[in-house]
Amino acid sequence: MDVEITYSDIDGLLILKSKSAKWPASSNTYILTSGNKSVIIDPGCGFSQRAKLIEKILEKKNSHSSVVLLTHAHPDHMGAARFLKAESFLAHEIEVKYARNPELLSESFNIPFIKSRYVRYVKFDLLKYFEKLCPIYGVKALPFPEEINFGDYRIQPILTPGHSPGHTSFYIPDESLVFSGDLLGEIMAWYSPASGGVEAYAESLKRLEKLKAETIMPSHGDPATSSRIEKEKEILEQRERIILEEVEKGVNSREELLKTLFGDKWNFLTNLLILESHLIKLEKEGKISEIS
Ligand SMILES: [Zn+2]
Ligand SMILES: [Zn+2]
Repeated sequence: MDVEITYSDIDGLLILKSKSAKWPASSNTYILTSGNKSVIIDPGCGFSQRAKLIEKILEKKNSHSSVVLLTHAHPDHMGAARFLKAESFLAHEIEVKYARNPELLSESFNIPFIKSRYVRYVKFDLLKYFEKLCPIYGVKALPFPEEINFGDYRIQPILTPGHSPGHTSFYIPDESLVFSGDLLGEIMAWYSPASGGVEAYAESLKRLEKLKAETIMPSHGDPATSSRIEKEKEILEQRERIILEEVEKGVNSREELLKTLFGDKWNFLTNLLILESHLIKLEKEGKISEIS
């Protein structure tokens, strides 16, 4: 089993923490209970064991009805949703179509563009790639309201795109707690042009910072504090600086830039998406011209 169960200091919050923070290991699952109701944030990869474990916990807690909240519709977060007997599955209205039809994820992962630019990805099939690692199935997701009230909790969805178009963090002001999804984690998440790119990602970090939440619960890894926001902002700036320095030196190829930025892992899909996001921003700002 890839999961350990931990309890938090916050009343009624249970954490199913994935032992590996590495992508695409299942995301952490957060279960909030109040009376006999629960909210499940990100059920995890589409293996039935994870869903069975969640159902067992709900039974033990005497929870008769539950709602699933999705930070976003990536396989490592929502795959297990279809095995759950939840009352409803809620995601941001922008993200709903991906949750209902995972085939569309190719769009937010910019796969058609990647195929046209990078020869080794010509035959790449995103859902096949995830099949064994972290399978995904669609669920009949609905858009969540502006505020989710359940039992003692008041949950505010905060749109934080960049990693996915409708990526959402869930904020509980009364507990000074925010579930940050993939925006902030042990390993910094990637961003893609179709999800808003590096600009949206940086803006989302600022939005998260403004909340001044004491505790940040990411979807991968351990709870974080705001110092990690600062660290991620620096990584974004550093990447941009490296690209500009290389271009200044006369480097004019994506492959070279990728190798400088990511070393051995340069041709990993998510790294390509990161580079493309920066190139689009820098071209728009007139700081670089066409890179081959
Ligand atoms: Zn993700
Ligand atoms: Zn994730």
